Amino acid sequence: MSDCIFCKIINREIPSKPVYENDRVYAFHDINPEAPVHVLIVPKEHIASHNELTVENVGIMKDIHLAANEIAKQLGVAETGYRLINNCGTHAGQTVFHLHYHLVGGKPMGSKIL
Ligand code: 5GP
Ligand code: ZN
Repeated sequence: MSDCIFCKIINREIPSKPVYENDRVYAFHDINPEAPVHVLIVPKEHIASHNELTVENVGIMKDIHLAANEIAKQLGVAETGYRLINNCGTHAGQTVFHLHYHLVGGKPMGSKIL
């Protein structure tokens, strides 16, 4: 998608701070971190949101979740804990319509979801 900010980040048209990469997934530090660790994990394929996951493309979720495990270990939050968050759509606060998971940690976040 030519006008998608995360596609531009994946294609290195916009700079980012890389954390993890393989053939299918890229992860980078959020530009506006809300916790000491705040990484965005994105598929290299443009998928607009969780709503657009299908039988054909859902295999990417395996890559995203395995990347999250690697990143959590790499950044030292695997043991202390972290949240893996997807905002799907406007009411959830999704602002970038390229599927992404926030990996946030590095501080206690309490037990409430909201
Ligand atoms: P959403 O609200 O869609 O779930 O999350 C979008 C996230 O992307 C936000 O946390 C925001 O800070 C981050 N973000 C937006 N633009 C950029 C950018 O150009 N670079 C990086 N690294 N993060 C961005
Ligand atoms: Zn995109």
